[in-house]
Amino acid sequence: MPGFDYDLFVIGAGSGGVRASRIAAAHGARVAVAEEYRVGGTCVIRGCVPKKMLVYGAHFAEDLEDARRFGWDVGEPKFDWATLRDNVLADVDRLNCAYTDTLNNNKVEIILERATIAGPNAVRLASGQTVTAGKILIATGAWPIIPDVLGAEHGITSNEVFHLEELPRRVVIAGGGYIANEFAGILHQFGSHVTIVNRSDTILRGYDEQIRDRLLQISMTKGIEFRFNAPFEKIVKQEDGSLRIFLKGCEPIEADALLFATGRRPHTEGLGLENAGVAVNEKGAIVVGADNRTSCDSIYAVGDVTDRIQLTPVAIREGQAFADSVFGGTPRQVDYSCIPSAVFSHPPIAGVGMTEGEAREKIGEIAVYQSDFRPMKNVLAGRNERSLYKMICNAETGVVVGLHMIGPDAPEILQAAAIAVKAKLTKQAFDDTVALHPSMAEELVLMR
Ligand code: NDP
Repeated sequence: MPGFDYDLFVIGAGSGGVRASRIAAAHGARVAVAEEYRVGGTCVIRGCVPKKMLVYGAHFAEDLEDARRFGWDVGEPKFDWATLRDNVLADVDRLNCAYTDTLNNNKVEIILERATIAGPNAVRLASGQTVTAGKILIATGAWPIIPDVLGAEHGITSNEVFHLEELPRRVVIAGGGYIANEFAGILHQFGSHVTIVNRSDTILRGYDEQIRDRLLQISMTKGIEFRFNAPFEKIVKQEDGSLRIFLKGCEPIEADALLFATGRRPHTEGLGLENAGVAVNEKGAIVVGADNRTSCDSIYAVGDVTDRIQLTPVAIREGQAFADSVFGGTPRQVDYSCIPSAVFSHPPIAGVGMTEGEAREKIGEIAVYQSDFRPMKNVLAGRNERSLYKMICNAETGVVVGLHMIGPDAPEILQAAAIAVKAKLTKQAFDDTVALHPSMAEELVLMR
């Protein structure tokens, strides 16, 4: 696109932005990407990746305890938060460099400063310069929401939790979604006393009810506390530095830290969208069509900044589809059906397709199969924690329309099974497959 400084200017070097930049450049476009913090974005720098490493770290608490039942003398295990934190942060640095190298190798120019929209084909950089581009892609992601409550400034979000100087002895986690349940598991295993405070009586809205109930029951048995229907009144910092957290309808809670995990808002504030007539919805999310194009013809958006599904692999697919369509001559649209997802709680949850409730509403006549079992490892370890797998089928055709699991390695198992659900296989096809014994995954072909 002659006449412009670049063919493509991408704002935000997270999962969606990096994929779009490198693929567009590989298709021959002259590409620049602006990033105000670190290349890699939420997933790599302060989300999925470092979180998963903490999940691994946390699991040792139970593994070391169980090891004794398997004959190992492990002494008195001690956990050092600073060691894990620093190792995780060092790996984040490594990934940050790897992502930077990938962009450099693909000849994408990286501009490490904030960029805003100045017009349909113009971007203003924080340093004052204005550059032009044939197409602009907004991939600025989302940002944690902090509820408007007195004393909220005493709380932290998932952005800060990876950098804690020391582990809180008592922590209150606000919210009942992904981040709340994942960090409840992590911090509990590290020895913090965890209380989840939620404004409603539902955790993990959107997941199958029985699976959620199983997580709630296991979490409570482990010693994680829950306060439901408990909106915040105020948070007071006390003289000794601890917090007194006042909730409606409950006794105040004393804590050493408060983690807000109350959702994430599309990161569009101050982005200059009005300069190009880019429309947003009531949540501040950029409105896009199936081709990722906004209400301004030359501007596109992918990932969490749009109001679709806030998951890394989805942003990556959207970035790829955008680059292939606009610069590769291969128009593509993302297929949003049957997207598997997981919560890395202790134990983890994973699901794909419709929940039982959704299927009843949408299909009517359904058949539900399940397996409620105690994994072999838990039996020998004396750990009374049961797994639950559920398969939801269309009663008439036998097609599996949903698969939901809670138990060790559920996300690892579900990713493979999701292929079968996406391919619309039937319960019979699962039953025709010989079990792989002994495994937890064999329950998938033995469900009744
Ligand atoms: P979620 O949307 O999962 O959960 C938000 C929780 O906060 C809900 O329980 C909600 O309650 C509650 N809530 C929302 N607004 C308020 C408010 N104003 N005051 C009090 N409570 C409130 O958000 P998370 O922050 O946990 O995670 C953000 C997103 O990041 C997720 O939606 C997910 O897409 C992504 N993510 C994915 C992960 C994964 O794939 N494993 C891991 C971590 C994050 P209610 O139910 O009543 O609305």
